[in-house]
Amino acid sequence: MSVLQQPIDAIKLLPMGGPGICNIAITNVCNAKCDFCNYARDKMFVKERLWVDYDRMCQGLDILYERGIRYVTLVGGEPTLHPKLKEIVAYTVNKGMRPSIVTNGSRLGSALINELKTSGLKTLFISIDSPSNEEHEKNRGLPNVCDRIKEANQQCKRLGIKTIASVTINKLIEDFPKLLDSLKELGFETVNFAYPKRVLNSSALSFSQTSELINYSTDELVQALEKIKSLKGEFRILNSSESLAEIVRFVRQEKQIYSCVGGYKYFYVDYHLDIYRCDYWPTKIGSIFEFRDRPFVRDGCTKCMSGCYRDASVLIHPAVSVGDALADLRQGKLLSAMGHLGKRSNFLSLKTLVQEWSTLKKLAKTHSQGDL
Ligand code: SF4
Ligand code: SF4
Repeated sequence: MSVLQQPIDAIKLLPMGGPGICNIAITNVCNAKCDFCNYARDKMFVKERLWVDYDRMCQGLDILYERGIRYVTLVGGEPTLHPKLKEIVAYTVNKGMRPSIVTNGSRLGSALINELKTSGLKTLFISIDSPSNEEHEKNRGLPNVCDRIKEANQQCKRLGIKTIASVTINKLIEDFPKLLDSLKELGFETVNFAYPKRVLNSSALSFSQTSELINYSTDELVQALEKIKSLKGEFRILNSSESLAEIVRFVRQEKQIYSCVGGYKYFYVDYHLDIYRCDYWPTKIGSIFEFRDRPFVRDGCTKCMSGCYRDASVLIHPAVSVGDALADLRQGKLLSAMGHLGKRSNFLSLKTLVQEWSTLKKLAKTHSQGDL
């Protein structure tokens, strides 16, 4: 998609709240054994090892595009185990969507990185669990993966692929400033924190009810979230301050400000190619092939703290309000339209966008040079 086509497409999508996002689990197979995840190779949760079929995946991507999805995050299991990963990335890019991959980094050898670059990938999220390489490798069950991640970061930097450390908040991180030092040492410049997941009700297995690493009391988790918030000036942290504050309110069971866009602007597709509003939700919308005709879900849900859905909801809140206002204006409902635009949450979200501008600008620059 050309430089001009992107903003034109975004304007076209504004009446439906702007471009949407979808996480797609292209396999349920993983080569790691993270304590806080039920995809782990040594747990018995994966009954049938599955990789999504490439041709069906492409048909599904066509439907996602029609429904306004422009950002696709390929997850797993471990997505680099999918034999057609680079073809899926290339199809997504050619379709006009921006793919990213979340990986444990174990298979990020030079050849794969070059192939992903050729396919048009611009963003890689690489998981890190601890300030200590040794503890990280032990939790992952992936010896020497930190060396590989360090080399991958260097190669990605040379090729213009943005890498972002993806860190699940867990008890291996006793010292957050130390974690940021270790991320720098590994070659990261940006980090995104995932909030611990004790339960998911969809087919996604990236949670654990039994792991002590993510067994937090309210006070402990609030303390960790506040610490991350306090470090935003020290390192490029993608989670916005407003989003961290919303999650603190969630943990404390206080009133939520931002309705989640899961089911409207954000979705989860699993390794059966079934689509859910999010990974927390127990019932699927249907097969991805039925999604073309299914209504969006907008019920103001704030039931969970699934990070990508909740963090995105804060940032795209104003775009959703503009879409709602435009819909009302088309029906001549001027007062209602003004109500959408005048919501306090919009001002808070816009303030956040201004505060986060330097991070977003940096990421947008990566997009335009080859995307985030
Ligand atoms: S967190 Fe990722 S790498 Fe670890 S077991 Fe789960 S899917 Fe595999
Ligand atoms: S709040 Fe949680 S359960 Fe509700 S839509 Fe968002 S991600 Fe799904």
